Amino acid sequence: MPSESERRARPLIVPRFFNTLTRELQEFPVGKYNAENPAKIYTCGPTVYNYQHIGNFLAYVYWDVLVRLFAVLEVPTKRVMNITDVGHLASDADEGEDKMEKGAKSSGKTVWEVADFFADDFLEHFTKLNLLQPAKTARATDYIEDDMALVDRLTEKGYTYETSDGIYFDTTKFPRYADFARLDLAGLKAGKRVDFNREKRNVSDFALWKFVREGESHAMQWQYLGRAGYPGWHIECASIILAELGESIDIHTGGVDHIPVHHTNEIAEVESLTGKLLSKFWLHNNHAMIDGEKISKSLGNVILFSDLQARGFNYMDFKMWAYEGHYQKGRNFTWEGLEAAKKRLNNWRRAADLRHEFDYEVTAGEEIILDVITATVANNLSTGVALALVDDFISYERQEGNTWMSVKIGSPSEHFWAKIDELFGLNILESTPPLTPIQRDLLASRTAAREAKDFVVSDQLRDQLKEQGIGILDGADGQTWYHL
Ligand SMILES: [Zn+2]
Repeated sequence: MPSESERRARPLIVPRFFNTLTRELQEFPVGKYNAENPAKIYTCGPTVYNYQHIGNFLAYVYWDVLVRLFAVLEVPTKRVMNITDVGHLASDADEGEDKMEKGAKSSGKTVWEVADFFADDFLEHFTKLNLLQPAKTARATDYIEDDMALVDRLTEKGYTYETSDGIYFDTTKFPRYADFARLDLAGLKAGKRVDFNREKRNVSDFALWKFVREGESHAMQWQYLGRAGYPGWHIECASIILAELGESIDIHTGGVDHIPVHHTNEIAEVESLTGKLLSKFWLHNNHAMIDGEKISKSLGNVILFSDLQARGFNYMDFKMWAYEGHYQKGRNFTWEGLEAAKKRLNNWRRAADLRHEFDYEVTAGEEIILDVITATVANNLSTGVALALVDDFISYERQEGNTWMSVKIGSPSEHFWAKIDELFGLNILESTPPLTPIQRDLLASRTAAREAKDFVVSDQLRDQLKEQGIGILDGADGQTWYHL
C-alpha cells in the first residue's frame, strides 16, 4: 500500500446541492469550514407518537449520506436533530388533535410514556441502520423555556397577537413570509376553509403557543402568561436551532411537505428577529410510496422494519434500496425492488470476500475510482449513479465453472471497501470478516475430499459450511467461498 505521501494529491471536490431557498444547484463552499467552525446542519426529526415506518427512515438514510460525504471530504460538521415529543398537531395549520395526545389515548399510556417508548424505538432503528449519530439529538420538551423566551422576544418586537386559544405570529409583519415556499397568499385567503379560526387575523398566521382550553385534556402543559399551554411545532425547531447551533446555520434538511408551512414558519420566527438567513442551504427529500400509493394507516400499507425482517431482509438491504433512488425524487417501494437491492449488496459482499483469497493491493486506478464515486455523491447526492460506478469497478468475469478468478476491471482492496463503508455505511467489511479457523479447516477438508473424488463427504462439508454462513462455488480452478 503506498504511503500517504506517495499518493497523488487528491482533487478538491466541491459538493453542490439543490437549494430550495434559491431553487438552484449551488456549490457548497467546503473550504470555509474547519474544526473551530464546523458546517452546522439541522435535521427535522420525527414526531414520536407511533412506530416510524420504512418510508420515514428513507429521509434519515439520505441525510446520513450527506453527513458521511462531509466526513469523507474531511469537512467538520456539527449536526443537530430534534425529536418532537410534544404539541405536533394533526394538521399543520394548528387545527385538529395533538398527535402525541392522540397516540396516548389510543394506546392507554400516558403521553410521556408514549413519547419515551417511540423515541427509543426510533433511535434503536436509527442505530441499527448504522446512521451516524448527530452531535445532539434534542427532545423538544427539554426546550420549553427557550420556546417561551422566543415567543417573548417576538412579542416585544410586535410580531404576535393573542387569541382565546393561543399566541399567534402575524405573518403580515414579516413581508418575506411567502418567499421561501413561493406561496400565493391571495389564493390561500380565497380558498380558506369554513372552519378557519375566526380569531386569526390572516389565514397564514400560525400558533407559536397554544393555551389549554377549558374542558380540554392536555397532559403535557406548562404555565406561561399565567395559563396552562404548550408550544407550537414550528417554534420547537426554531428554539433548538437557536440554542444548539446559533442564529444562522449552513444546511437545514427536511421533507418536501415541510416547505410551505413548517419551514416557512421556522424562517419567519427566526429571521424576523435576527435579520439573518436561518439557513444558507435547505435540502428537501421527497417521500416513499408503496406500490405507487402514499403510505398511510388508512390504506393499510404501512411497512415496518419488523415486516422486512420477517421476509428475510435486513437494514443494509433497505439502505441499498434507498440509495438506488435520489433524495429529491422519493422512492416507490416494491418487494421486488428490495430483493434486487439485496442481490446487489450481496454482489458487493462477494466481491469484498475476494480480498481474503487474493490479498489485492491498493492501485492508482482504485484511488481514482474512489474519487469519482465521492464526486458523484457530492453532485447533489447522486447515490444511484455512484452505486453503478461501484458495480462497474467490481464486475468480474466468471470463468468456466463459475469461479471468480479473473477480475475484469478492478480488484478492490480492503482500503476500497473501507472507503465505501465510510461513504455509505453499508457494513461491507464488518459483514465479510476473514474465515474462522473452523471454517478454514472445513474448506481444507472439502478440498481434500474433492481431490479424492469423495463427493458424499464433499457435500456434507458444503452443508456444514453453509451452517457457518459460508457458501461455496466450485470451478475448474477449485473452490471459492463467500459469506452467505
Ligand atoms: Zn422542524
